[in-house]
Amino acid sequence: MKTISIWGSTGSIGIQTMNVVQQFPDAFQIHGLTAHRNVSELFMQAQIHKPQYVVITGDVDREVWEKKFNKLGVSILWGKEGLLELASSGVEEMVINALVGSVGLEATLKAIQAGTNIGLANKEVLVMAGEMITSEAEKKDVSILPIDSEHSAIFQCLHGESKDQIQRIILTASGGPFLHRDVSEFDSITVEEALKHPNWEMGKKVTVDSATLANKGLEIIEARWLFGVQSSQIDVVIHPQSIIHSMVEFVDGSLKAQLGAPDMRTPIAYALTYPDRWEGDYSKVSFQNPISLDFQQPDFKAFPALQSAFHAIQAGGTAPVVFNAADEVAVDLFLKKQIRFTHIPEIIEMTLQDHQVIPSPDLSTILKINVETRAKAEKIASLFQ
Ligand code: MG
Repeated sequence: MKTISIWGSTGSIGIQTMNVVQQFPDAFQIHGLTAHRNVSELFMQAQIHKPQYVVITGDVDREVWEKKFNKLGVSILWGKEGLLELASSGVEEMVINALVGSVGLEATLKAIQAGTNIGLANKEVLVMAGEMITSEAEKKDVSILPIDSEHSAIFQCLHGESKDQIQRIILTASGGPFLHRDVSEFDSITVEEALKHPNWEMGKKVTVDSATLANKGLEIIEARWLFGVQSSQIDVVIHPQSIIHSMVEFVDGSLKAQLGAPDMRTPIAYALTYPDRWEGDYSKVSFQNPISLDFQQPDFKAFPALQSAFHAIQAGGTAPVVFNAADEVAVDLFLKKQIRFTHIPEIIEMTLQDHQVIPSPDLSTILKINVETRAKAEKIASLFQ
């Protein structure tokens, strides 16, 4: 039995992780589950899996839930402090970090320091603190296993290969819902349109990020740290079918690709069972009907957030923190219908331009820049409201 905790168990990735775990009831024991505000879903999960702890970080009626969970024999830890307490326990063999946004950074650091392996779906962790997190993981001999489909693909392509023979890694991008829309019409894109992704079922923040390609931007920053490559070794190619999840080109010109149906449960399962593969109920590619695999270059003019992400990696230090924070602020304002779709990349780039990079930042510097950037991005955004 592998003891695990799942952070963000009621979100999109969290629920799919629960689905995988449920397929192998004898293989996993759940130590802790965490949720923000969706406590009814968390309670249902706790009834099935009987974790020792749940963490609730959102504002809810504590007395009511305390009684309910206590009846199940489950202890509640509250707020960010509770999440950090669970993260520090060192009881689990692995935690799945399926939190969204920057909240998971401190908890991930605590878990690594406690010697716990990380299944990482929370891309902001490596975007904000890639240098610190990867060096800490190395020190503690802790594995960071990617759960993003692209990074899982690259990780699988690199299995049995040596790092110094990588020529470049090629992240595929579906291109999002606006791949074929004329850039002159981007101004009129609505929240509802941006939330309709052609291939993947995801949370709101990620879906908007996929529409601006800021998500691919976050992924190239993440890849830089996960695989220890330079920005010049990272390419993005648009592949609308989302069958190839990413590729690696080696020094001899050989390309390895990982293919599969767009089903997040496959990369989740691979992280959970690595280096093994277990047979389970996941979507598969059917060759009954003809399939074409198309590729094209990304349009940096239509999707400038992608260019900004390359700027952020090249600048290094705290620049990716700024990219991430400015994007979080801008997406939030867009979802509230206070700014236009095209303002999102503008706010990101303007906030980046305004930033004085601090090299090799420690945790407190990262957190400070994160807070300061939000205020700055909001001020810049107010120019557009
Ligand atoms: Mg992805």
